[in-house]
Amino acid sequence: MSSFYRVAGGRPYVPGEQPQDKQYCKLNTNECPYPPSPLVAQAIGDCSDLRLYPDPTSLNLRAAMATAYGLSPKQVFAGGGSDEVLAYCFMAFCRAGDTVVFPDITYGFYQVYADLFGLQTQIVPLHDDFTVPTDALMQTEGHIFLANPNAPTGLVLPPADIAKLLEHNPHRLVIVDEAYIDFLTENTCIPLLKRYENLIVVQTFSKSRALAGMRLGFGFASSDIIEDIEKVQFSFNPYNIDRLSQRVGIAAIQDTAYLAQTVAKVTATRERVTSALRALGFEVLTSAANFVFAAPPHRDGGRFYTYLKDNGVLVRHFATARCAPFVRITIGRDDDMDTLLALAAKEGK
Ligand SMILES: *Cc1c(COP(=O)(O)O)cnc(C)c1O
Repeated sequence: MSSFYRVAGGRPYVPGEQPQDKQYCKLNTNECPYPPSPLVAQAIGDCSDLRLYPDPTSLNLRAAMATAYGLSPKQVFAGGGSDEVLAYCFMAFCRAGDTVVFPDITYGFYQVYADLFGLQTQIVPLHDDFTVPTDALMQTEGHIFLANPNAPTGLVLPPADIAKLLEHNPHRLVIVDEAYIDFLTENTCIPLLKRYENLIVVQTFSKSRALAGMRLGFGFASSDIIEDIEKVQFSFNPYNIDRLSQRVGIAAIQDTAYLAQTVAKVTATRERVTSALRALGFEVLTSAANFVFAAPPHRDGGRFYTYLKDNGVLVRHFATARCAPFVRITIGRDDDMDTLLALAAKEGK
Protein backbone atom coordinates (compact mmCIF):
# COMPACT_ATOMS: atom_id res chain seq x y z
CA MET A 1 0.00 0.00 0.00
CA SER A 2 1.27 3.49 -0.76
CA SER A 3 1.32 6.23 1.86
CA PHE A 4 -1.37 8.02 -0.21
CA TYR A 5 -4.13 5.42 0.24
CA ARG A 6 -7.12 7.03 1.99
CA VAL A 7 -9.75 4.30 1.86
CA ALA A 8 -10.85 3.28 5.34
CA GLY A 9 -12.93 0.29 4.22
CA GLY A 10 -12.11 -3.38 4.69
CA ARG A 11 -10.85 -5.93 2.25
CA PRO A 12 -11.65 -5.78 -1.47
CA TYR A 13 -13.67 -8.51 -3.13
CA VAL A 14 -11.69 -11.66 -3.89
CA PRO A 15 -12.78 -12.95 -7.31
CA GLY A 16 -12.54 -16.64 -8.10
CA GLU A 17 -8.95 -17.42 -9.06
CA GLN A 18 -7.96 -17.28 -12.74
CA PRO A 19 -4.61 -19.11 -12.65
CA GLN A 20 -2.41 -18.98 -15.74
CA ASP A 21 0.04 -21.79 -14.82
CA LYS A 22 -1.89 -24.46 -16.73
CA GLN A 23 -5.24 -25.22 -18.39
CA TYR A 24 -7.76 -25.98 -15.67
CA CYS A 25 -11.25 -27.30 -15.96
CA LYS A 26 -12.79 -24.09 -14.62
CA LEU A 27 -15.74 -24.76 -12.33
CA ASN A 28 -15.09 -21.91 -9.88
CA THR A 29 -16.81 -18.69 -11.04
CA ASN A 30 -20.28 -19.81 -12.19
CA GLU A 31 -19.70 -18.81 -15.79
CA CYS A 32 -21.82 -20.45 -18.47
CA PRO A 33 -20.07 -23.39 -20.18
CA TYR A 34 -21.83 -22.65 -23.48
CA PRO A 35 -21.22 -19.63 -25.73
CA PRO A 36 -23.65 -16.69 -25.86
CA SER A 37 -26.45 -16.54 -28.44
CA PRO A 38 -25.20 -16.44 -32.06
CA LEU A 39 -27.14 -13.16 -32.39
CA VAL A 40 -24.51 -11.58 -30.12
CA ALA A 41 -21.67 -11.83 -32.67
CA GLN A 42 -23.99 -10.47 -35.36
CA ALA A 43 -24.95 -7.54 -33.15
CA ILE A 44 -21.34 -6.41 -32.74
CA GLY A 45 -21.06 -5.93 -36.52
CA ASP A 46 -19.68 -2.65 -37.85
CA CYS A 47 -17.72 -0.75 -35.21
CA SER A 48 -17.37 2.65 -36.91
CA ASP A 49 -19.86 4.16 -34.44
CA LEU A 50 -17.44 3.51 -31.56
CA ARG A 51 -15.98 6.97 -32.19
CA LEU A 52 -19.18 8.31 -30.59
CA TYR A 53 -20.07 8.16 -26.91
CA PRO A 54 -22.78 5.66 -26.08
CA ASP A 55 -26.30 6.67 -25.03
CA PRO A 56 -25.82 7.43 -21.31
CA THR A 57 -29.41 6.34 -20.58
CA SER A 58 -29.08 3.01 -22.49
CA LEU A 59 -32.64 3.69 -23.57
CA ASN A 60 -33.01 1.06 -26.30
CA LEU A 61 -31.53 -1.61 -24.06
CA ARG A 62 -33.81 -0.64 -21.18
CA ALA A 63 -36.82 -0.60 -23.51
CA ALA A 64 -35.96 -4.09 -24.73
CA MET A 65 -35.65 -5.33 -21.14
CA ALA A 66 -38.90 -3.60 -20.19
CA THR A 67 -40.76 -5.29 -23.05
CA ALA A 68 -39.33 -8.68 -22.12
CA TYR A 69 -40.38 -8.32 -18.48
CA GLY A 70 -43.70 -6.47 -18.88
CA LEU A 71 -42.42 -3.27 -17.24
CA SER A 72 -42.04 0.36 -18.28
CA PRO A 73 -38.52 1.44 -19.42
CA LYS A 74 -38.64 3.88 -16.47
CA GLN A 75 -38.62 0.86 -14.17
CA VAL A 76 -35.39 -0.54 -15.64
CA PHE A 77 -31.81 0.50 -14.93
CA ALA A 78 -28.86 -0.87 -16.93
CA GLY A 79 -25.41 -1.23 -15.37
CA GLY A 80 -21.98 -2.61 -16.14
CA GLY A 81 -22.65 -5.97 -14.53
CA SER A 82 -24.94 -6.38 -11.55
CA ASP A 83 -22.03 -5.48 -9.27
CA GLU A 84 -22.24 -1.92 -10.59
CA VAL A 85 -26.02 -1.86 -10.09
CA LEU A 86 -25.54 -3.03 -6.50
CA ALA A 87 -22.86 -0.37 -5.94
CA TYR A 88 -25.25 2.36 -7.12
CA CYS A 89 -27.93 1.01 -4.76
CA PHE A 90 -25.50 1.32 -1.86
CA MET A 91 -24.51 4.83 -2.99
CA ALA A 92 -28.08 6.02 -3.55
CA PHE A 93 -29.82 4.55 -0.52
CA CYS A 94 -27.19 4.29 2.25
CA ARG A 95 -25.18 6.95 4.04
CA ALA A 96 -22.01 6.38 6.12
CA GLY A 97 -23.04 5.00 9.50
CA ASP A 98 -26.34 3.45 8.27
CA THR A 99 -26.93 -0.23 8.88
CA VAL A 100 -27.50 -2.79 6.13
CA VAL A 101 -28.70 -6.34 6.69
CA PHE A 102 -27.77 -9.61 5.01
CA PRO A 103 -27.30 -13.29 5.91
CA ASP A 104 -24.01 -14.70 7.22
CA ILE A 105 -23.62 -16.88 4.15
CA THR A 106 -24.25 -14.95 0.95
CA TYR A 107 -22.58 -13.10 -1.92
CA GLY A 108 -19.30 -11.67 -0.58
CA PHE A 109 -19.65 -8.31 -2.30
CA TYR A 110 -22.35 -7.03 0.09
CA GLN A 111 -19.79 -6.90 2.92
CA VAL A 112 -17.19 -5.32 0.64
CA TYR A 113 -19.56 -2.51 -0.37
CA ALA A 114 -20.70 -2.02 3.23
CA ASP A 115 -17.05 -1.54 4.23
CA LEU A 116 -16.23 0.70 1.29
CA PHE A 117 -19.16 3.00 2.02
CA GLY A 118 -18.60 3.05 5.80
CA LEU A 119 -21.80 1.21 6.74
CA GLN A 120 -22.65 -0.88 9.78
CA THR A 121 -23.85 -4.40 9.10
CA GLN A 122 -26.33 -6.61 10.85
CA ILE A 123 -25.51 -10.17 9.85
CA VAL A 124 -28.35 -12.67 10.25
CA PRO A 125 -27.27 -16.34 10.46
CA LEU A 126 -28.97 -18.74 8.08
CA HIS A 127 -30.76 -21.69 9.69
CA ASP A 128 -28.72 -24.89 10.17
CA ASP A 129 -30.11 -26.20 6.87
CA PHE A 130 -28.94 -22.97 5.16
CA THR A 131 -32.48 -21.66 4.57
CA VAL A 132 -33.10 -17.94 5.07
CA PRO A 133 -34.65 -17.03 8.48
CA THR A 134 -37.31 -14.56 7.38
CA ASP A 135 -38.58 -14.10 10.95
CA ALA A 136 -35.12 -13.07 12.16
CA LEU A 137 -34.78 -10.69 9.19
CA MET A 138 -38.03 -9.01 10.23
CA GLN A 139 -36.52 -8.19 13.63
CA THR A 140 -33.74 -6.13 12.00
CA GLU A 141 -33.56 -2.54 10.81
CA GLY A 142 -31.90 -1.28 7.64
CA HIS A 143 -32.07 -2.20 3.98
CA ILE A 144 -31.90 -5.95 3.34
CA PHE A 145 -29.68 -7.48 0.65
CA LEU A 146 -30.71 -10.99 -0.38
CA ALA A 147 -29.26 -13.15 -3.14
CA ASN A 148 -32.09 -15.35 -4.41
CA PRO A 149 -31.21 -18.11 -5.24
CA ASN A 150 -28.57 -17.61 -2.60
CA ALA A 151 -24.88 -18.02 -3.35
CA PRO A 152 -23.02 -20.21 -2.57
CA THR A 153 -25.85 -22.42 -1.25
CA GLY A 154 -28.06 -22.42 -4.37
CA LEU A 155 -31.18 -22.45 -2.18
CA VAL A 156 -34.17 -20.37 -3.19
CA LEU A 157 -36.51 -18.38 -0.95
CA PRO A 158 -40.11 -18.36 -2.27
CA PRO A 159 -41.23 -14.88 -3.43
CA ALA A 160 -44.15 -15.16 -0.96
CA ASP A 161 -41.62 -15.01 1.89
CA ILE A 162 -39.92 -11.99 0.36
CA ALA A 163 -43.36 -10.38 0.07
CA LYS A 164 -43.75 -10.81 3.84
CA LEU A 165 -40.49 -8.92 4.40
CA LEU A 166 -41.55 -6.16 2.03
CA GLU A 167 -44.89 -5.82 3.78
CA HIS A 168 -43.56 -6.02 7.32
CA ASN A 169 -41.55 -2.81 6.94
CA PRO A 170 -42.38 -0.67 3.89
CA HIS A 171 -39.88 1.97 5.06
CA ARG A 172 -36.84 -0.06 4.17
CA LEU A 173 -35.69 -1.50 0.87
CA VAL A 174 -35.33 -5.17 0.11
CA ILE A 175 -32.77 -5.61 -2.66
CA VAL A 176 -33.17 -9.05 -4.25
CA ASP A 177 -30.12 -10.11 -6.24
CA GLU A 178 -31.46 -12.58 -8.83
CA ALA A 179 -28.15 -13.42 -10.54
CA TYR A 180 -29.28 -17.05 -11.00
CA ILE A 181 -33.02 -16.60 -11.46
CA ASP A 182 -33.12 -17.77 -15.10
CA PHE A 183 -32.45 -21.29 -13.85
CA LEU A 184 -35.85 -21.25 -12.09
CA THR A 185 -37.81 -18.27 -13.40
CA GLU A 186 -41.00 -18.91 -11.43
CA ASN A 187 -39.11 -17.60 -8.38
CA THR A 188 -38.51 -14.11 -9.71
CA CYS A 189 -39.73 -11.21 -7.58
CA ILE A 190 -40.42 -9.03 -10.64
CA PRO A 191 -44.24 -9.54 -10.36
CA LEU A 192 -44.01 -8.14 -6.80
CA LEU A 193 -42.93 -4.76 -8.21
CA LYS A 194 -46.61 -4.08 -8.94
CA ARG A 195 -47.39 -4.26 -5.25
CA TYR A 196 -44.30 -3.00 -3.39
CA GLU A 197 -42.52 0.33 -3.68
CA ASN A 198 -39.65 -0.83 -1.47
CA LEU A 199 -38.40 -3.63 -3.73
CA ILE A 200 -35.39 -3.59 -6.04
CA VAL A 201 -34.70 -6.65 -8.19
CA VAL A 202 -31.19 -7.02 -9.64
CA GLN A 203 -30.30 -9.37 -12.49
CA THR A 204 -27.27 -10.08 -14.66
CA PHE A 205 -26.39 -11.41 -18.11
CA SER A 206 -23.16 -12.93 -16.70
CA LYS A 207 -24.51 -16.37 -15.81
CA SER A 208 -27.45 -17.75 -17.83
CA ARG A 209 -26.80 -15.48 -20.85
CA ALA A 210 -23.09 -16.38 -21.01
CA LEU A 211 -21.97 -12.73 -21.12
CA ALA A 212 -19.73 -12.44 -18.05
CA GLY A 213 -17.05 -10.97 -20.31
CA MET A 214 -19.32 -8.18 -21.50
CA ARG A 215 -20.52 -6.71 -18.14
CA LEU A 216 -24.27 -6.23 -18.27
CA GLY A 217 -26.56 -6.08 -15.25
CA PHE A 218 -30.00 -4.65 -14.55
CA GLY A 219 -32.05 -3.17 -11.75
CA PHE A 220 -35.86 -3.26 -11.72
CA ALA A 221 -37.88 -1.09 -9.33
CA SER A 222 -40.40 1.75 -9.15
CA SER A 223 -39.68 4.63 -11.54
CA ASP A 224 -38.81 6.84 -8.54
CA ILE A 225 -36.17 4.41 -7.32
CA ILE A 226 -34.74 3.98 -10.81
CA GLU A 227 -34.54 7.77 -11.12
CA ASP A 228 -32.50 7.87 -7.89
CA ILE A 229 -30.11 5.18 -9.13
CA GLU A 230 -29.75 7.10 -12.38
CA LYS A 231 -28.83 10.27 -10.49
CA VAL A 232 -25.94 8.39 -8.90
CA GLN A 233 -24.88 6.91 -12.24
CA PHE A 234 -24.85 10.36 -13.82
CA SER A 235 -22.77 11.61 -10.87
CA PHE A 236 -20.23 8.84 -11.22
CA ASN A 237 -20.05 7.21 -14.67
CA PRO A 238 -22.58 8.66 -17.14
CA TYR A 239 -21.40 6.46 -20.03
CA ASN A 240 -21.52 3.30 -17.94
CA ILE A 241 -22.51 0.94 -20.78
CA ASP A 242 -20.47 1.02 -23.97
CA ARG A 243 -22.04 0.83 -27.41
CA LEU A 244 -21.10 -2.80 -28.03
CA SER A 245 -22.63 -3.94 -24.75
CA GLN A 246 -25.84 -2.01 -25.45
CA ARG A 247 -26.41 -3.72 -28.79
CA VAL A 248 -25.23 -7.11 -27.57
CA GLY A 249 -27.63 -6.84 -24.66
CA ILE A 250 -30.58 -6.15 -26.95
CA ALA A 251 -29.69 -9.15 -29.13
CA ALA A 252 -29.28 -11.42 -26.11
CA ILE A 253 -32.67 -10.43 -24.68
CA GLN A 254 -34.39 -11.25 -27.93
CA ASP A 255 -33.02 -14.79 -28.22
CA THR A 256 -35.36 -16.36 -25.68
CA ALA A 257 -35.22 -19.76 -27.41
CA TYR A 258 -31.44 -19.86 -27.02
CA LEU A 259 -31.66 -18.94 -23.33
CA ALA A 260 -34.22 -21.71 -22.74
CA GLN A 261 -31.92 -24.20 -24.46
CA THR A 262 -28.88 -23.18 -22.36
CA VAL A 263 -30.87 -23.29 -19.14
CA ALA A 264 -32.31 -26.73 -19.99
CA LYS A 265 -28.83 -28.16 -20.67
CA VAL A 266 -27.30 -26.70 -17.50
CA THR A 267 -30.18 -27.79 -15.25
CA ALA A 268 -30.19 -31.34 -16.69
CA THR A 269 -26.45 -31.61 -15.99
CA ARG A 270 -26.96 -30.16 -12.50
CA GLU A 271 -29.57 -32.80 -11.66
CA ARG A 272 -27.30 -35.58 -12.90
CA VAL A 273 -24.30 -34.25 -10.91
CA THR A 274 -26.41 -33.81 -7.77
CA SER A 275 -27.61 -37.44 -7.86
CA ALA A 276 -24.15 -38.79 -8.70
CA LEU A 277 -22.46 -36.90 -5.86
CA ARG A 278 -25.17 -37.95 -3.39
CA ALA A 279 -24.66 -41.56 -4.46
CA LEU A 280 -20.96 -41.11 -3.57
CA GLY A 281 -21.93 -40.02 -0.06
CA PHE A 282 -21.60 -36.25 -0.60
CA GLU A 283 -24.04 -33.86 1.04
CA VAL A 284 -25.41 -31.73 -1.82
CA LEU A 285 -27.83 -28.87 -1.20
CA THR A 286 -30.76 -28.75 -3.63
CA SER A 287 -29.66 -26.05 -6.06
CA ALA A 288 -31.86 -23.73 -8.11
CA ALA A 289 -28.79 -22.24 -9.82
CA ASN A 290 -25.91 -23.23 -12.12
CA PHE A 291 -23.73 -24.55 -9.32
CA VAL A 292 -23.97 -27.00 -6.43
CA PHE A 293 -22.75 -26.61 -2.86
CA ALA A 294 -21.41 -30.01 -1.89
CA ALA A 295 -19.55 -31.52 1.08
CA PRO A 296 -17.43 -34.64 0.54
CA PRO A 297 -17.95 -37.57 2.94
CA HIS A 298 -14.85 -36.58 4.96
CA ARG A 299 -16.28 -33.02 5.21
CA ASP A 300 -12.98 -31.28 4.63
CA GLY A 301 -13.85 -28.90 1.81
CA GLY A 302 -10.37 -27.37 1.77
CA ARG A 303 -8.75 -30.75 1.26
CA PHE A 304 -11.19 -31.66 -1.52
CA TYR A 305 -10.58 -28.29 -3.20
CA THR A 306 -6.78 -28.84 -3.15
CA TYR A 307 -7.12 -32.41 -4.39
CA LEU A 308 -9.28 -31.25 -7.32
CA LYS A 309 -6.91 -28.38 -8.13
CA ASP A 310 -3.91 -30.76 -8.13
CA ASN A 311 -5.86 -32.81 -10.66
CA GLY A 312 -6.67 -29.85 -12.91
CA VAL A 313 -10.20 -29.00 -11.72
CA LEU A 314 -10.89 -25.63 -10.09
CA VAL A 315 -13.81 -25.20 -7.72
CA ARG A 316 -14.44 -22.58 -5.04
CA HIS A 317 -13.85 -23.11 -1.33
CA PHE A 318 -14.90 -20.63 1.35
CA ALA A 319 -12.88 -21.05 4.54
CA THR A 320 -15.49 -19.65 6.97
CA ALA A 321 -16.59 -22.08 9.71
CA ARG A 322 -19.99 -22.97 8.29
CA CYS A 323 -18.84 -23.19 4.65
CA ALA A 324 -15.57 -25.03 5.26
CA PRO A 325 -16.97 -28.58 4.81
CA PHE A 326 -18.31 -27.62 1.36
CA VAL A 327 -17.05 -26.59 -2.04
CA ARG A 328 -19.06 -24.69 -4.64
CA ILE A 329 -18.95 -26.44 -7.99
CA THR A 330 -20.07 -24.61 -11.14
CA ILE A 331 -22.06 -26.77 -13.55
CA GLY A 332 -19.96 -27.09 -16.69
CA ARG A 333 -20.29 -29.21 -19.82
CA ASP A 334 -21.12 -32.88 -19.35
CA ASP A 335 -17.55 -34.03 -20.06
CA ASP A 336 -16.16 -31.54 -17.47
CA MET A 337 -18.58 -32.91 -14.92
CA ASP A 338 -17.59 -36.49 -15.77
CA THR A 339 -13.99 -35.54 -14.97
CA LEU A 340 -15.12 -34.06 -11.67
CA LEU A 341 -17.28 -37.07 -10.79
CA ALA A 342 -14.44 -39.51 -11.54
CA LEU A 343 -12.15 -37.56 -9.18
CA ALA A 344 -14.90 -37.37 -6.55
CA ALA A 345 -15.35 -41.16 -6.70
CA LYS A 346 -11.64 -41.68 -5.97
CA GLU A 347 -11.49 -39.10 -3.19
CA GLY A 348 -14.57 -40.61 -1.53
CA LYS A 349 -12.70 -43.86 -0.80
C1 LIG B 1 -22.10 -13.47 -10.18
C2 LIG B 1 -22.93 -12.70 -9.20
C3 LIG B 1 -23.07 -11.32 -9.29
C4 LIG B 1 -22.21 -10.47 -10.20
O1 LIG B 1 -22.55 -10.52 -11.46
P1 LIG B 1 -22.01 -9.47 -12.54
O2 LIG B 1 -23.25 -9.12 -13.23
O3 LIG B 1 -21.04 -10.25 -13.36
O4 LIG B 1 -21.39 -8.30 -11.85
C5 LIG B 1 -23.92 -10.67 -8.41
N1 LIG B 1 -24.58 -11.35 -7.45
C6 LIG B 1 -24.43 -12.67 -7.31
C7 LIG B 1 -25.18 -13.36 -6.24
C8 LIG B 1 -23.60 -13.38 -8.17
O5 LIG B 1 -23.44 -14.68 -7.99
